[in-house]
Amino acid sequence: MVTSRVETRAKELVFVLEDEADVARIICGTLKQFDFETEHFSHGHEILRRITRKMPAICLVDLGLPDLDGLEVLRQLQESGTATIVLTGRGDVTDRVLGLELGADDYIVKPFAPRELVARISCVLRRLQKSTSIGSHNVAHFSGWTFDVDAHRLISPEGEHVSLSRAETQLLELFARAPNRVLTRAYILDVTGGAPTFDRTIDVRVSRLRQKLESDPQNPRILRTVYGSGYLFTSTVRWTKAH
Ligand code: CA
Repeated sequence: MVTSRVETRAKELVFVLEDEADVARIICGTLKQFDFETEHFSHGHEILRRITRKMPAICLVDLGLPDLDGLEVLRQLQESGTATIVLTGRGDVTDRVLGLELGADDYIVKPFAPRELVARISCVLRRLQKSTSIGSHNVAHFSGWTFDVDAHRLISPEGEHVSLSRAETQLLELFARAPNRVLTRAYILDVTGGAPTFDRTIDVRVSRLRQKLESDPQNPRILRTVYGSGYLFTSTVRWTKAH
């Protein structure tokens, strides 16, 4: 049986942040036609809440929002690890430059032809797939630290190399990919695995990480405990590729 590539491709999820209803309708309609799945948001806080639960392949981000600063929303979306394309008004050069500096994967000027949008999205996704196979964004920078996931290595703000076990690497990556979000012990266990009969497992691993990360492990500033809930990674994280 011969099937076309379009039919066999898994549907990619696109988050569309755009407060103008007409524009959003056209975008979502076009994307559906080209076999993308879409979720639409008209407010910044909605997409930021949603992305803690569901990770799209890419977010289209209109910077002029009714509630939050679009660049701040873009920054937070970037931190979550999703790809982003900025939707900008004609001539908003500053926004565009800032957007790209903040790590947006591309931008597109409104009004745009629906086909152009689809082409841009496909291009970014193809590029990402390629870069994932060569080397993805697996180096995190936070609070002066550099964390190389693939090398299982931390470099302190003073330039010291600290080695990490596989379990510590996995745990730190989980936190660094979800900064400023409370992760419950149950969630961490679920994602990283481990013996569920030993419910202190996570606490022990966190405490070991703190010995390496915190200048005062008794009073952690990066990896904090939220009593009754879990743990919170409080640093801002920037992800880059390994050199
Ligand atoms: Ca707008």
